[in-house]
Order: sequence, then C-alpha cells, then structure tokens
Amino acid sequence: MKKNQGIEQFRVILAMMVVAIHCLPLHHLWPDGDILITLTLFRIAVPFFFMISGYYVFSDLATQNSYPARQRVWQFIKKQLQVYLIATLLFLPLAWYSGMLGLNMPLGTFIQTLLVTGILYHLWYFPAIITGSLLVMGLLTRLSFKQVFFIAVGLYVVGLGGDSWSGLAAQTPITPLYSLIFQLLDGTRNGIFFAPLFLILGVLARRFSKKPASPHRYSYLLISLICLLLESYLLHHFTTPKHDSMYVFLPFVLLFLFPIIQQWQAPIIWKQAGRLSLWLYLLHPYTIAVTHFLSQKLPLLQNNLINFFVVLGLTIGVVQGLFALQKLFPFSKKTPLHLQRAAKEFSAPALLHNLQEIKRLIPATTKVMAVVKADAYGCDAKTVASTLERAGVDFFAVATLEEAIELRRAGIKSPLLILGYTSAQRAKELKHYSLIQTIVSEAHGHALAQTSIPIECHLAVDTGMHRLGVAPDLETVTGLYALPSLKITGIFSHLGSSDQLDTASILRTQAQITCFDDLLAGLSARNIAYGLTHLQSSYGILNYPEKHYDYVRPGILLTGSLSVPNEPTKQKINVQPILTLKALLVDKKTVAAGEAIGYGLGTVFDRPATIGIVSIGYCDGVPRALSNQGFQLSYQGALLPQIGLVCMDMLLIDLTDYPELAVESSLEVISDWTTTADQAQTITNELISRLGSRITSSSK
Ligand SMILES: *Cc1c(COP(=O)(O)O)cnc(C)c1O
Repeated sequence: MKKNQGIEQFRVILAMMVVAIHCLPLHHLWPDGDILITLTLFRIAVPFFFMISGYYVFSDLATQNSYPARQRVWQFIKKQLQVYLIATLLFLPLAWYSGMLGLNMPLGTFIQTLLVTGILYHLWYFPAIITGSLLVMGLLTRLSFKQVFFIAVGLYVVGLGGDSWSGLAAQTPITPLYSLIFQLLDGTRNGIFFAPLFLILGVLARRFSKKPASPHRYSYLLISLICLLLESYLLHHFTTPKHDSMYVFLPFVLLFLFPIIQQWQAPIIWKQAGRLSLWLYLLHPYTIAVTHFLSQKLPLLQNNLINFFVVLGLTIGVVQGLFALQKLFPFSKKTPLHLQRAAKEFSAPALLHNLQEIKRLIPATTKVMAVVKADAYGCDAKTVASTLERAGVDFFAVATLEEAIELRRAGIKSPLLILGYTSAQRAKELKHYSLIQTIVSEAHGHALAQTSIPIECHLAVDTGMHRLGVAPDLETVTGLYALPSLKITGIFSHLGSSDQLDTASILRTQAQITCFDDLLAGLSARNIAYGLTHLQSSYGILNYPEKHYDYVRPGILLTGSLSVPNEPTKQKINVQPILTLKALLVDKKTVAAGEAIGYGLGTVFDRPATIGIVSIGYCDGVPRALSNQGFQLSYQGALLPQIGLVCMDMLLIDLTDYPELAVESSLEVISDWTTTADQAQTITNELISRLGSRITSSSK
C-alpha cells in the first residue's frame, strides 16, 4: 500500500469535478441540482488541491524556517510557474478564438489576465497557487504559524464578501473596498483571499494526521456539508452572488473531508493519478470546445450529461495516449554506458548492502552518520546521499562548506555536519543553508559565537590525535557550551589509530576513548546537555564495534572497500564496491617483437604482441604509479594486463590472449579498489576519491 493512496486517487476525482463545473451535466435533468451539487459541492475541488499542496509542500516550513523547508516551497512554485507558462502557450489559440484575448486589449487588463485570471477560464488556478504560495511562504518565514493562520482566515473572510456573499456585502458601507478589489483583481477567488487559507488548512491536516482520527468525523463532515448546501441555497435564493466559489462552510467541509480521504485505502485505478489529474484539468477546455463544435452536427452532444461524459472520456483518452507516447519517446536520452569514454558505474544495491552490513555491526541504538565528503570519496555525493537518505540515514557529514551547500541545493534535507574549518565570517551561509558547523578549536568557537548568528554546532574534541578539536579540558568545554549564541547540539572526537590492532595502536585508541568518555561524564556531572555523541569512523566500527555512542561516522566502508588489503580487524565485514570504473577499448594493433611500446623504452616484448588502447589515463584517476605493477583490467572475466606507462588520457593493455576483443568494448578498469590501491602503494580512500572530473557517471 503506497502512502496517501487515497489522496492520490482522489486527485483524479477532483479534476473530474472541475470538468463537471465547466459542463453543468445536470442542466437538463435537474437545473437546481447543478446549483447545489455541481456549483456548490464540486467547488471543493480546487480548495482540496490547495490543501494537498499545503499538506505536502508547506508542512515543514510551518514548523521550522530551514533551508530544505524553503527549498521545498521554491521548487513547488517554480514547477507551477513552468506548468502555467506551458498551459498559457497551449491555450493561446483557444483564448484568441473565444475572444478572451485580443490585440485591442488594454495593457492593464492584459497584466491582470496574466497575473490573476489566466487567459482562459480554468487557468486562474495557477496564478492563484503561485501568488498564494509566495504570500504564505513570506508570512511563514516571518511570523508564527498561529499568526499566519489568523491572517489567512481574515483574508478569506474579506474574500467572502467579494464572492458568494457579495450580494450582502453590497448592502454595507464597505462596498468601495470591493469595487477597488474587483477593479484590480477581478474578484476575490485568487491567490490573496482564497488560496492561503486552504494551503494553511493543508498544514493543519498534516498535523492532525499524526493524532488518532476522531470517531465523529463523518458526522462533522455531514453537518458541515448540510450547512454548506443551506448557505449556498439561501445566498442564491435571496441574493445575486457575484461568484460561487467561497462559502463560510467550505473550509469546514474540507477540514473534515481531508482526513477521511487521507485514510482512504483507495484501490489503485489510475497509476499516475497526479499527472493524470493535472492534464485532465489542463486540457479539458479544448475537449469542451471540440464537443461544442461537433454538437452542431451531433445533437446528442447538446445534452449536457452526455456531453460531460464524452468530454471526460475523450480527455482521459488523449492524456493516456500522450503518456504512452512519452514512454515510447522519452525526452532525454543518456549516452549509453558502453559508449562513454570513461565512466564510473554506481550501484545503489551495493551501497544499501554496505549500509546494512555496517548496521549489523553496531549497537541497535546507534545510528549511521554517512560521511560523504570529497564527493562521497569520488562516488558522487548527491547520488550516494540521496540513496542513503531514502533508505533512512538521517545525518550526513562533509568536509567543507561548499560540499554542504551543494548537497543542500541537491535536496538533501537531513542534518549536515561540516567536519572541517569554516571561517566565522561565513556564518551567514551556515545559517542560510541550515548547516551544522564543527567547532575545531576554542578560538574558533569564540569567533563563531561573536557573530551573534545562532549557528548550530558540534564540538570536536582533540582526545589525542592532535589534528582538529578543543582540548579535552572540562573548564574549556563547559565555557564553550555556556556561550549564548552558539547552539551546540553534539560533541565528537576522531581516532588516530583505530585501523591497527598492534598493542601500541590499541593503547592509543583506548586512551582516546577513555578521554572522551571521561569528558562526557564530567559534563553530565555538571548537568550540561552535551547533545549527540559520535566517535568511530570505518575502522573504529570494525575494531571497536561495541562502543555505543549516538552515531558512527563511516566513509570508506560505505563505498564498499577496506582502506588496505589483509589488515586484520576485530569484526569482519562483507562490503561490495559501489563503483566500477569503466573505459572503452578504442583501438588495437599488433606490434612486432622488439618494438618499444608507449612512452620510453621500458616496455618491449620479445614476441609479436596484440595491444589495446584504452580511453582512460592518470588525469582520470588511474595513477601513473600503477604502471607495470601487475595491474589488470578485465572484460567479462577475462584479465587484460596493463602494459607500459599509464599516459594522461590513455593506457595500454596486452591483448595477445584475446585478439578478438572488439573495439568499443567497455572494459572494467577498477572494481577491486583495495587491491589496486595496494598496487599503487596508496590506500583505497585516496585512489577512489581522486577520480578525475572527466569521468562520466552512470548507475546500475
Ligand atoms: C573522513 C572522516 C571520517 C570517515 O572516515 P572513514 O575512515 O572513511 O570511515 C569520519 N570522521 C572524520 C572526522 C573524518 O574526517
């Protein structure tokens, strides 16, 4: 069962209600029914759409003004703008034809059309959702949710007088206000008076959804529905409303209806319900125009009910047809992997497997903070982090501010810790992107505090590695926690010798652990809430798995390799490389015995040889130090020895045993990173994180 399946399926039903509003299906059968049902009940459709947006898009922003929360709203607004633009272009001909748009239109009316009403009757929705979203976002980032709620209610109440209550409002002294609003905005069903309340109600619905459902919800819905119908009936009977979209009881109906729909275990009738409802909403006016035209020949279509079903069926048919076409001809085509010069192939299943393996070793109460610095060790931080975030990892660490910003822009929402130094002069950026900065020294802590910008921090403690960190001195650390403008929410240290199990290394590590634990105990004794704790990186996990701090900080283990081959560790782990480095065989040739091959005179065979030229070199991260170290490429299990000196853009292989291997075969250059790193006399961490920027990415 997918989450919120009820809401998703209901979107299509809502779009059908909108179509009905524009077809008035009961016109011949029961004219009053159109007023009561089509023009009153079905009016829930658009506010319900607004609520769905509030529910999904605004809920985070309503609780905290963080970068990911603002970004969610921005992206939503951008998307709506795009759709609005496309829809406007799409409907230009019809708007022209129907006279809604013309060359003699005054500029003011034209601007009003674009910014408020839309060029055709159904397009007002987009300016309304865009304006409403901008307004609500602006308010939520400045005021409390309660204040925004009351403002939205106030705007809606004003809006009532310009909509179905306009007949009554016209008899009061505030009529000039409405004349002005009508002149500027044509009506009140728009992004200022109408949309904000329902966006906010969507946020409320999200909050209520965390509480048990009220047993009376159906009665509440029924009562508010009856009130709504009564309100509509009375207003239409005794006054002449300017419009009939806004009623006093409409928000109540929606507030009670929403949770019922949200919990509805809907059967999946429409697979792409969201897209279908959007396009049904967008395109149906064209179908209405077509059926209207056809009805001159086919009198049957003059029956509104039949016309409604024909419009519905035709539009859904066309939309589904378009979806099918798009599947056949997708918009973007990636270069297939086997044609990329040099590529790193990412495997999400391997990454998730590694995460499980790490979790298997650590205590159940300890969580994983994924270290994705240096572009996730060259494995593409955006892909790695988003894959892990979807799998439930809720904390990430990087080395620099730039890396953190890049991940935020890519949509990573979880807390992000910067492990390295960031100048206090860049505090604004830390705050803007909702990042957590490491305090690397006492002076650094004071400098950050002096900015008076409330930055979230974790405190690094130097327990004996003597790189970054504050001295493990209780007074110093207490002093930093006492600084008023710093929000220190965690404390950590880093181990200098956790990768080795000789006695001296073990002693050094144990001294570091004791030092850290003593400091935590001292802070506890002083009643200082020191926040989250974390200490072990990859080898800390392998060699000291029993320590249970709040988080562990694996980096290289997530990439699926050990730093060095055959180093004994206390715990064994079975990880798989998440990257395979590939390159093309671009040419092959035979070389006579005794000929020197490649740069220099070092490589000479005493037999004729078939050699291959492979499109990857040291610029791409295959170290020159790998030359002639027994390094082998492979192709479907066949091992292909590297020969000669690795060049900047190419390397050579011996194809004598496989002369039939075709040019443009995609060869595996590195998949066993640990062995290759060893051949290059370095550690895996360096080899994998130094892959060049010319290498393209693809995923399995
Ligand atoms: C890089 C780094 C890690 C991750 O180290 P691995 O050995 O790759 O797991 C953890 N903590 C800190 C402070 C680091 O700098």
